[in-house]
Amino acid sequence: MTLISTPRKLNSVANTTQIASQVSLVGAGPGDPDLLTIKAQRLIREAQLVLHDDLVPAAILAIASPHCEIVNVGKRCGAKGITQAEINERMIQAACRGIRVVRLHGGDPAIFGRLGEEIDALEAAGVRFEVVPGITAGSAAAAALGVSLTDRRKSSRVIIVSGHRATKSAPYNRTDWKEVARNDATLVVYMPGNNFEPLREELLAAGLSAEIPAVIVSHATTPAERHGIATLGTVHLLPRVDSPAVLLIGRSLDRARPKGQADASLAFQEAELILSSV
Ligand code: SAH
Repeated sequence: MTLISTPRKLNSVANTTQIASQVSLVGAGPGDPDLLTIKAQRLIREAQLVLHDDLVPAAILAIASPHCEIVNVGKRCGAKGITQAEINERMIQAACRGIRVVRLHGGDPAIFGRLGEEIDALEAAGVRFEVVPGITAGSAAAAALGVSLTDRRKSSRVIIVSGHRATKSAPYNRTDWKEVARNDATLVVYMPGNNFEPLREELLAAGLSAEIPAVIVSHATTPAERHGIATLGTVHLLPRVDSPAVLLIGRSLDRARPKGQADASLAFQEAELILSSV
């Protein structure tokens, strides 16, 4: 589904004689260029300015025209110290000059992507925008493992949560794991970090079984993809994997297995840890 906004008000930036271009807020998917939507591909090809996250791979940026200005606005490797306000301003200024802007997010722009802040800024400036969804890392990880995130026999809901919470007063506040401890849910933890001990303790204390499968997937859908398979009881023993990674916990993962492995019924014994690459 694509959402096209109607401008609500014009401010001084947007109120120029030139017609502002529409800004496309686009999901680039989890890394495999084949998982880009056809619409995203077209918008990137036609863009004159692409502002992208760190996680967008070179193969996807290569779709852009040689005349397109490509700027990494990511938090880690991107333009040094660029703030969200500066990213917003850059999108607005370019759109007001009639430049076709693609703001390219890793995965889906609506999942931990500051999409809400960007939409607020564009609306406040009276700049039209559209949102083009992408495949989010949690879906990509489940697909890589050959599992369903919901399963009417085991898991009736999916809870997407970040390993840390960003608030103004506490930028890396701890996540309250008890809040999301449910036997009938698949928990998908983005930015899970490397220390799973607090999560393990709190989820076990909240009554979840130590036998529930817990699987970490790093670099899902890329050649560097790796999986670590454990249980909630042994999740703290999982070997470290590279970022980006997502941690999935839930009964619907009990058939999770690394790609290419025929036996779908891995027994999740306490202390059984499997790390594999594809
Ligand atoms: N909008 C993105 C998420 C951005 S937050 C999405 O929808 O996927 C960045 C986090 O996403 C990473 O720290 C990691 O937890 C997760 N992530 C992104 N790409 C990933 C990938 N290919 N494999 C595993 N996790 C990934």
